[in-house]
Amino acid sequence: LAQKNGYNNYQFFVHQVDTVQDRKIRIEQGLKKALHHNEFELYYQPQVHLESGRIVGVEALLRWKHPELGNVFPYEFIPIAESTGMIIPIGKWVIQEACKQIRRWQSEGIRVKIAVNVSALQFEDHQFIELINESLSKNLLPPKYLELEITESVMQKINQSYTIIGKLKNIGIKVSIDDFGTGYSSLSVLSSLPIDAIKIDKSFVRKMMTDSNTASVVKTIIEMGSNLSFNLIAEGIETEEQREFLLENGCHLGQGYLYSPPVTKGEIEKLLIRENVV
Ligand code: C2E
Ligand code: MG
Ligand code: MG
Ligand code: MG
Repeated sequence: LAQKNGYNNYQFFVHQVDTVQDRKIRIEQGLKKALHHNEFELYYQPQVHLESGRIVGVEALLRWKHPELGNVFPYEFIPIAESTGMIIPIGKWVIQEACKQIRRWQSEGIRVKIAVNVSALQFEDHQFIELINESLSKNLLPPKYLELEITESVMQKINQSYTIIGKLKNIGIKVSIDDFGTGYSSLSVLSSLPIDAIKIDKSFVRKMMTDSNTASVVKTIIEMGSNLSFNLIAEGIETEEQREFLLENGCHLGQGYLYSPPVTKGEIEKLLIRENVV
């Protein structure tokens, strides 16, 4: 019996690996066609002023509908796009699409900033600055309407990052550090960079009401960040208690399901018009 079970388990194991591997391959192959087949869409999540609830900007979040696998989420396809280099053309599409959207909204009287996520690979691409300049000028956009979110992993090449962020700063683009606290960079390292904002990672926001150590970490990030004149924005705010804690401790901006999940272009337009960003 034992032997039989062992055999079955082995079969089961092989089958599982096969399936996971198969899905990865299908995602990888699907990514190559996704741009041409128009399978990507940008969703938007409002970034709000925590005191008034006023929308100060929106974050663009990529959504992909695979023809057979259905909705595949970024946590699954972004790492594959990065390891295959596909993130370069996909990331280019995201920036161009966001800039076109800013333009379209402006022509309708909606003036709102879009924050776009950028992978380290894109950031280090030698055509990146050109892409940004081109996307802005094609759409006649003042640079203040575009913001880039980079993660701390970009900081591993601190000298190179310094140069690129400096160039973006000269253009007038805002740069923020996403998922702050999950990587290895310290606020003191960031203080030497011309960065505008720090986004407190949602894992801290989730735990800060129940774990006193996490609460201390959040307070410290807010206090040090403010002293270094960074804007602070909290991610993943889901409850009124979290909103209050952040406000009481000096964080004035945030985003999360408490306000809205990422939504379609049509849905965010309704919110923007209702909230009078217009
Ligand atoms: P991120 O930039 O840190 O985005 C925040 C993630 O948290 C989003 O997941 C968002 O849907 C989710 N979120 C927002 N509010 C809440 C909340 O209240 N609670 C919880 N639990 N989650 C919340 P999403 O859209 O699945 O994106 C995941 C990550 O994928 C992003 O993290 C970003 O790193 C990456 N990503 C998304 N779009 C792009 C893109 O266009 N380019 C690149 N390079 N990366 C992207
Ligand atoms: Mg982000
Ligand atoms: Mg984040
Ligand atoms: Mg992230």
